[in-house]
Amino acid sequence: MSGNWYTEKQTENFGITMKINKTLHVEQTEWQFLEMAETAEWGNMLFLDGMVMTSQKDEFVYHEMVAHVPLFTHPNPENVLVVGGGDGGVIREVMKHPKVKKATLVDIDGKVIEYSKKYLPEIAGELDNPRVEVIVGDGFMHIAKSENEYDVIMVDSTEPMGPAVDLFTKGFYAGIHKALKEDGLFVAQSDNPWFKADLIKQVQSDVKEIFPITKLYTANIPTYPSGLWCFTIGSKKHDPLNVPAEQFHDIDTKYYTKELHTAAFVLPKFVKDLAGE
Ligand code: SAM
Repeated sequence: MSGNWYTEKQTENFGITMKINKTLHVEQTEWQFLEMAETAEWGNMLFLDGMVMTSQKDEFVYHEMVAHVPLFTHPNPENVLVVGGGDGGVIREVMKHPKVKKATLVDIDGKVIEYSKKYLPEIAGELDNPRVEVIVGDGFMHIAKSENEYDVIMVDSTEPMGPAVDLFTKGFYAGIHKALKEDGLFVAQSDNPWFKADLIKQVQSDVKEIFPITKLYTANIPTYPSGLWCFTIGSKKHDPLNVPAEQFHDIDTKYYTKELHTAAFVLPKFVKDLAGE
């Protein structure tokens, strides 16, 4: 933070800067450095370890694209797990699917949940839905002890730093495979192709070794570094590009549409190369 401007540095030479109206909360939690601020352009924003996690103005893009692409791909997503996602945005979108009977959220940091409820209420508002169970704990350990349990798993984690390092390993993806039912699928946020090309390549190649259907899709998220964000989907059976038309139903969204569901998998050439397609 410098004066009333906040910069997330992506490299030594590039960052993304926003004007802060007011700092709302600052705390070193057990796991990470948490900051909540009211910004001039993007509404209230959550930062963890100096990185943008979400903003009130553009959060819908990320949360809709994490949730709806896998949920519309699965014909009957009754039991859903969200790893990370303590701000509650993914859960809010999951709750729009009537077929979901239960959603479990496992975030390692209870403070993210607490302060999201306080300062990002329209994002966190469904965390108290009776169909939702919130667990404060390590997603890696939760996955390790789960077997043949979930239809869809969504990994809404921080970057591979601190408590999230294990969530970007082949062992974790193997655990996800075991935790999913026989026709289950998962999605993981996979950062951006401009500054994290190696990470995207690694995740794609690890997931491909474990899941017969592995694909990359993107979305435009202005407050994330470079604006072009990637998501990796790994599926045992259902192909996100072969969803029966009748499986889509009307849903209240601002970014996701059934046309975009397919279009998001059309990649720029340099991103296609990273995905090994
Ligand atoms: N959408 C953001 C992004 O792409 O930058 C990330 C959202 S933020 C809510 C991610 C969450 O992952 C944080 O609340 C953090 O506490 C959680 N997290 C990090 N490591 C974790 C772990 N090992 N198990 C569970 N949650 C974890």
